Amino acid sequence: MSLINLLKFGKSSKLGMFYIELECNHANKTFDNCFSFDRFTNTCRFWRLVINILKLKNFNLEHGITHIPLELPWNSPGFVNVYFIEDSNGLVMIDCGVDGNEYLKLLESKMASIGISFGDVNLLIGTHMHSDHIGLSSTIRDKGIPFALYKNSVDFIKGYNDWSIRFKQLKIYAKKEGAPKSFLNDLDQIETPEFAGKISKPEVLLDEGKLKDSDRNIEIIFTPGHDRTEISILDNPSKILFSGDHILPKITPFIPLEDEKDDMLEKYTSSLDKVYNLEQKLIAPGHGSLIENPYSRIEQMKLHHKKRSDKIIKLIGNSQLSGWEVVNLLFPRKLDSLNLRLAFQETMAHLKYLENNKKVNHIVGEKVNLWESTKRA
Ligand SMILES: [Zn+2]
Repeated sequence: MSLINLLKFGKSSKLGMFYIELECNHANKTFDNCFSFDRFTNTCRFWRLVINILKLKNFNLEHGITHIPLELPWNSPGFVNVYFIEDSNGLVMIDCGVDGNEYLKLLESKMASIGISFGDVNLLIGTHMHSDHIGLSSTIRDKGIPFALYKNSVDFIKGYNDWSIRFKQLKIYAKKEGAPKSFLNDLDQIETPEFAGKISKPEVLLDEGKLKDSDRNIEIIFTPGHDRTEISILDNPSKILFSGDHILPKITPFIPLEDEKDDMLEKYTSSLDKVYNLEQKLIAPGHGSLIENPYSRIEQMKLHHKKRSDKIIKLIGNSQLSGWEVVNLLFPRKLDSLNLRLAFQETMAHLKYLENNKKVNHIVGEKVNLWESTKRA
């Protein structure tokens, strides 16, 4: 049973825009949120979100595969998809949601409602090292279930457990790209969220190719870009691809740049090509609904990044701009500190990619670095 209550509606003189405050109750989860909108598109996006919440149900995947949409402590995305694949020994579980007793209880009761329990699970695989996918993993490992991540995950465990390590690097980078003091100070304030739990070295370090820990023909494909450890999982008997956050149905995943050496967008687009070449019927993503036209969705996602890259070259024009100036041109609307950080990392990932493709030059300055088009008039 789903309920939506309108709490408030009005126009904010401070923001100069309309707002709507709603309480949406679905599957024992209350979304209490205030949406402000100054553009028609935002209103559409909002109603789509509401419709998605109401439509939310278990996917009917057959082939011995079951699905649970599990609540997340935030609204966008509001759920993570948890999957179970049956082999002759039991179940292989894909992703598990965030840490916290409340989420464990929720998962257990949802599992019970489809007739399974942790006793049936032989292996938990994390698609990538983000808290909404592996936060609960340590709690599940305590039940004697081995945990698997891609083999390079061992290099990122420290950074997963302590976000200050990750953002220290980003701060040095952002300073050289002209970011203001307020942004740099915000990076100092970031703490590891409690929902992330704590991770230690996984029992199983995965490699590409057939999953050794199952007698079912399940294939691991290394698909970095959104995260440096991300994998996609192809279940060969059903030709269903579990894409984690690499391929999502409605949004393109955020491409981070944490240090200047990594070309994450190049990694991401190469991973899209890799998945495009696989024989697959359906994509079961980490969030949102099933993708029934995998190939056209991958083409759309490639096009999105190409358009964004083209836009950046156009915005730079004949000027020399700092990375921060490019961020402000590309995202002209006022963003909160989280979205501003994501916008910065995404813009820098595009600039790095354009530099490696000889479309822009990175001029290293004493204080601030600048970017210019290689085709300046
Ligand atoms: Zn995710």
